[in-house]
Amino acid sequence: MLRITNLHVEREGKLILRGVDFHLPAGQVHVVMGPNGAGKSTLASVIAGWPGYGVTQGDIVYEGGSLLDLPPEQRARQGIFLAFQHPVEVPGVACATFLKEAVNAVRQARGEPVLDAAEFLTMAREHMSRLGMSLDLLQRPLNDGFSGGEKKRGEMLQLSLLQPKLAVLDEPDSGLDIDALNALADGINRLRSPTRSLLVVTHYHRLLDLIQPDRVHVLAGGRVVQSGGGELAQRVLAEGYCQVCQENTP
Ligand code: ADP
Ligand code: MG
Repeated sequence: MLRITNLHVEREGKLILRGVDFHLPAGQVHVVMGPNGAGKSTLASVIAGWPGYGVTQGDIVYEGGSLLDLPPEQRARQGIFLAFQHPVEVPGVACATFLKEAVNAVRQARGEPVLDAAEFLTMAREHMSRLGMSLDLLQRPLNDGFSGGEKKRGEMLQLSLLQPKLAVLDEPDSGLDIDALNALADGINRLRSPTRSLLVVTHYHRLLDLIQPDRVHVLAGGRVVQSGGGELAQRVLAEGYCQVCQENTP
């Protein structure tokens, strides 16, 4: 599904990723952990094609083809989704409008019929009730004035509506209450399928326990310094990043 090789990324002249390598096979859920400033959000953003990052070396290959020359909207049409660590406020665009456009763009790209307003609302209501979201958020401008938790639930709603093939979730659990955290884990577990992959950036054992990742990568100083199974996450949580990162830093 996703193969990242020797990825070097800079932003405003500063080298942030310095040779990231990993492989995310179809059907798996991988977790990325790492200290603040390690480059986790940079990695997530550059997969989705967020502007402002320069790839200076290496490649990101998705379903056998390089993503580097594709604009973000093309990546999204091909099934890539990014849930932001800090969702962007878009005053003047109602949530319902944004979500319906996004869902229909992806449906069109998949060769599925587009939904009219009534069909979209029926679908959105069903997903929102599963996530415990208030329906009046649909009429409000996207993320504008939303609480931190509402913004994060909004990202989960997009995830569940768009059904991406490759979902990259950047700290989707930060600031969530317990009910929202359970709904998030439930959403991730529902999406698990042999043809879909998830890359989840998180620090917290609660989400790790609930989603049981296939593999955990520790990112530090712009490189993957250790990869392992669930036991690696347990070690990081028990011993801290310092200890785990020192063992393998060149
Ligand atoms: P993480 O998500 O792991 O906390 P980030 O990917 O957000 O880390 O950031 C990695 C590094 O890149 C940090 O040192 C951060 O200060 C730096 N960085 C992020 N955005 C910019 C920017 N616009 N200009 C310069 N440096 C940046
Ligand atoms: Mg981050």
